[in-house]
Amino acid sequence: MKNVSLLLLPGDGIGPEAVAELSRTIEWFGNHRDINFNITTDELGGAAYDKYGTPLADATLETAKQVDAIVMGSVGGPKWDDVERHLRPEAGLLTLRKELDLFANLRPATCRAALASASSLHEELVSGLDIMILRELTAGVYFGEPRGIETMPDGRRRALDTQVYYEEEIERLMRVGFELASKRNGKVHSVEKANVMESGVFWRQVATRVGKDYPDITLEHMYADNCAMQLVRQPKQFDVIATDNLFGDILSDCAAMLTGSLGMLPSASLGAEIDGKRAALYEPVHGSAPDIAGQGLANPLATILSFAMCLRFSFDLQTDADLLEQAVDHVLAKNIRTADIAAEGVKPVSTSEMGTAILEALDELHAQST
Ligand code: NAD
Repeated sequence: MKNVSLLLLPGDGIGPEAVAELSRTIEWFGNHRDINFNITTDELGGAAYDKYGTPLADATLETAKQVDAIVMGSVGGPKWDDVERHLRPEAGLLTLRKELDLFANLRPATCRAALASASSLHEELVSGLDIMILRELTAGVYFGEPRGIETMPDGRRRALDTQVYYEEEIERLMRVGFELASKRNGKVHSVEKANVMESGVFWRQVATRVGKDYPDITLEHMYADNCAMQLVRQPKQFDVIATDNLFGDILSDCAAMLTGSLGMLPSASLGAEIDGKRAALYEPVHGSAPDIAGQGLANPLATILSFAMCLRFSFDLQTDADLLEQAVDHVLAKNIRTADIAAEGVKPVSTSEMGTAILEALDELHAQST
């Protein structure tokens, strides 16, 4: 029996609806597989502001630091538009990421077979697609100093941001990339702009040095602009793409759209490994979708697939992660879809009906395997 501790943070908008379906899924794994989940549920974002007066309470943060992994729904919404910036829902999530030093953002771009026709690219280009975009999340130009908008002595105004990377920040990100590739298809593309940026030259040097520790992994370097082009030209050439904060932001959104809907995209953010334990936060890529909240319209699959990533990366339960991903494919293949991914002429199911369909698929697949 494997014992794991989990903090669930449903958040705002469609977050609680999606996490409710996830909770049923987790319960299924607790009942049918050899896993004992010790679950704490708490508030984050607007819901935490309403309850505690802050988007991330100290006690919640303390729990977040103790548990093996965190799975969240989403935060934000118009209800908190007039709240002071540091108390806004998003501030709670940013603080959580910063406090746990979640520097490695994993965004898989996986094209589920049944949804290949929903991609903006030709089906044959994306069918079977399985890319992992690894984005550095806590440094680079989004955080570098100096930054600002200023007036020069001659009266001209200017704005500046600073791209800065310390060697260790690149090294730890690349190591995650090589380790991921070793469990996948053995290839890493390190992406920068070494042709025009000093930080790109440095990124390439560090990636090359670290790569020598992983002789079984093929390391290729690619300029970010070429990578964007290759992603839409021939996306299946990639396995792991490891890149900085800015390029990762853009490339991961680009790759995401190769796979169809926002309601299907999971993500993970990992911290440094300390004493054999790595802080980890799993969340769907989508936001709190206030336009459809409370109506049973939300697709819970991005949240459920985020939990599959949790099983895989935090708990090293590969078979269970595979089982959950297969259950999702099984349901989609039966044309059971929420409105955002519904096939033409097929009546969409509600959020909870989708949750039920996942449980039934798990039952079915589990029965076949035992
Ligand atoms: P969004 O992702 O919430 O919604 C974009 C569109 O996609 C909407 O039309 C929505 O209905 C649809 N959509 C999103 N997820 C869906 C799902 N699971 N099922 C079906 N349809 C889905 O982005 P937005 O509208 O720009 O932002 C809304 C709020 O979410 C804002 O407050 C924003 O700050 C916040 N947000 C939070 C996160 C996060 O929690 N990590 C991420 C992005 C945005």
